[in-house]
Amino acid sequence: MRRAVIKSIGMTQYSEMRPEDARTDAASSGAEEDAGPRADGILVRVRGTVQGVGFRPTVWRIARELGVAGDVANDAEGVLIRVATTREGASAFAARMTAEAPALARIESIEIRHVQGLPVFEGFIIRPSSAGIVRTLVAPDAATCPQCVSEIHTQTERRYCYPFTNCTNCGPRLTIIERVPYDRTNTSMARFAMCEACQREYQDPEDRRFHAEPIACPRCGPKAQLVDAATAPAQVEGHDDIAKAVTLIRRGAIIAIKGLGGYHLACDATNPDAVTE
Ligand SMILES: [Zn+2]
Ligand SMILES: [Zn+2]
Repeated sequence: MRRAVIKSIGMTQYSEMRPEDARTDAASSGAEEDAGPRADGILVRVRGTVQGVGFRPTVWRIARELGVAGDVANDAEGVLIRVATTREGASAFAARMTAEAPALARIESIEIRHVQGLPVFEGFIIRPSSAGIVRTLVAPDAATCPQCVSEIHTQTERRYCYPFTNCTNCGPRLTIIERVPYDRTNTSMARFAMCEACQREYQDPEDRRFHAEPIACPRCGPKAQLVDAATAPAQVEGHDDIAKAVTLIRRGAIIAIKGLGGYHLACDATNPDAVTE
């Protein structure tokens, strides 16, 4: 993997930041920060493919383990982190982010700005995304990860045989995105309202589906539907349609499987009638 460029910039007053960072801050922070005590710390700008890949929960975990207070948010430029820490703490923080970046993340640069006058944070929190001029990268779709595959094959899992299973380490990204920041409301998954169980996973920073924007399950997500080319489509529940498609292929049928990015034609390669049709 390519090494990320880590730049450290001298001390600045927090109130004299560059316009884009100031805008991000204004959009992502509460009005309560206007008053009250201020602290010294760092402003960390991370650029690259850092949205929708589980980057914010990784930062959250590192911050908790290092025992530092602050916050992290996605914005149009990537990820912006504010941490109340020392110069030594800043290096340790950046080194761990590079070493422990999630599987799908591609860090291009980490810019650390030492600032005076940061708001005083209680603990470390993940803030909602904020908008701005788009300059960040979106991850490509990724093949189903081993953990998701294992769930799909486990009868006791609620995603047993569910074809749209994904998490922050795998699943669709670029194919479903309509605009950035990469949030569910900005993807083609926006029309599927999450069920309670998915919502719980989506909101838990310790869950591997924390902010997995395409999160879905058989209860709330898209379903596999078998459509006969000759007759009207009939919606069938759950994974039964996949079993039916398998039966049809065994009987010599040709099935067009609609995937995320196109169609895949499937038939029994050992059946000469199906192959020559
Ligand atoms: Zn996965
Ligand atoms: Zn669900």
